[in-house]
Amino acid sequence: MKANWKNIAILGAGESGVGAALLANKHGLNVYLSDSGTIKPNFASELAQAGIEAESGGHNLDKLSHADIVVKSPGIPGNISLVEKLKSMGKTIISEIEFAYHFTNATIIAISGSNGKTTTTALCGHVLQRGGLSVGVGGNIGKSFARLLAEEEEKDHYVLEVSSFQCDDLMDFHPHICIITNISPDHLDRYNYEVEAYVAAKFKLLKNMTPRDHFIFFVDDDWTQKMIDKLNPKCHLHGFGPQRKKTSNAWINEDKTITIDINGDTMNIEHLALKGQHNANNSMASSLAARLLKVRKESIRDSLTNFDALEHRLESVGSIRGVNFINDSKATNVNSTYYALESVSKPIIWIAGGVDKGNDYTELMPLVQNKVKAIVCLGLDNQKLLEEFTGQVKVITETRDMERAVKMAFSLSEKGDTVLLSPACASFDLFNNYEHRGEEFKYWIRQL
Ligand code: ADP
Repeated sequence: MKANWKNIAILGAGESGVGAALLANKHGLNVYLSDSGTIKPNFASELAQAGIEAESGGHNLDKLSHADIVVKSPGIPGNISLVEKLKSMGKTIISEIEFAYHFTNATIIAISGSNGKTTTTALCGHVLQRGGLSVGVGGNIGKSFARLLAEEEEKDHYVLEVSSFQCDDLMDFHPHICIITNISPDHLDRYNYEVEAYVAAKFKLLKNMTPRDHFIFFVDDDWTQKMIDKLNPKCHLHGFGPQRKKTSNAWINEDKTITIDINGDTMNIEHLALKGQHNANNSMASSLAARLLKVRKESIRDSLTNFDALEHRLESVGSIRGVNFINDSKATNVNSTYYALESVSKPIIWIAGGVDKGNDYTELMPLVQNKVKAIVCLGLDNQKLLEEFTGQVKVITETRDMERAVKMAFSLSEKGDTVLLSPACASFDLFNNYEHRGEEFKYWIRQL
């Protein structure tokens, strides 16, 4: 344990804030947790049970001012007046991941990027666990890092999904292995619409890495390449991507097998449970991490063959009268939909739409022209999709209702077609979240 704080304040009572509070409490720190909104009943009762002082509906600056350190939840922007005030009082603001890091000496595998974080984190965790290592998996997926440390027996390794918001307030956090899956601008509203700031946040993960550490990156990613040139990281670099390049340590061969090569120690992988080019990338990144941690080749191969696809991410929902259904509700931006359209075989009936975060559909156009026979737009406002794709496919239609979307898609389909829900947009216009959208999709398929 590296921490020597006595009084901590926590802003935000979500999974990470409550996790930080439980961890601090476990180590005998004085905790004051403050949330400007309401605290969910399950979190409130956890806090009450642990005897942790928490306020909701506002912030008591006087109480907060007694803290040695302030842990800010990732959902709270860094420029709100409360945070500015605390900074002007000389308080250091850190993220929950940073806070938790001070309570363990375990080896950290940090996974960030714009798309593929959750899949790669789950996959990498699976490969390491099956490889016999003692591993905790969490962060932005499942339990927060702090909660893992508070509630469970300490592990030797932690595989952590780290979102860009969680990268914002890092200080000493030092991963031994860092994977950045890819960079495509997202969440720009939180970064003053500056792509550079969004990218720079993710690369803060590399700040404390040393020549004993390893950075695993996507060789075809321009932003990553730019940042490598700019930061010139001290750690080992391991590239992955479909084609073998000078900086590649993992690539796909002509016969579709994958080669992993670390300093001439090579292995080949033939079968992957997860389909699609993007998942081959996620599998290469995970295999590199596993080899660096000395997991046996045979074990890596087995683990990659028997991993179950995650829900809402190119999840196969089965077939009805020869029509396949795929739920990719988690595709909330153009880049992830690109990979979905690329990996699903044609003809495709594509269900798309929702809250558009400033999408540029140009890169999808060739795939849509070549593989999509009909589009069902599913959003409150479908104008942009209709304008972009009318005339590019045989049929384009719209609805604001999942039941109708599924029925329309099914009636437009023939044996051998695939109905793909891959919206390229957020879900909040018609659904609570992407999980809700995916559940509704699956529900109405079952009713067909
Ligand atoms: P994240 O946690 O970064 O949001 P997920 O693993 O949940 O990523 O996947 C989100 C979406 O992106 C899914 O639609 C998935 O099919 C797609 N995806 C997964 N991995 C990649 C990748 N390496 N590159 C591009 N898209 C990906």
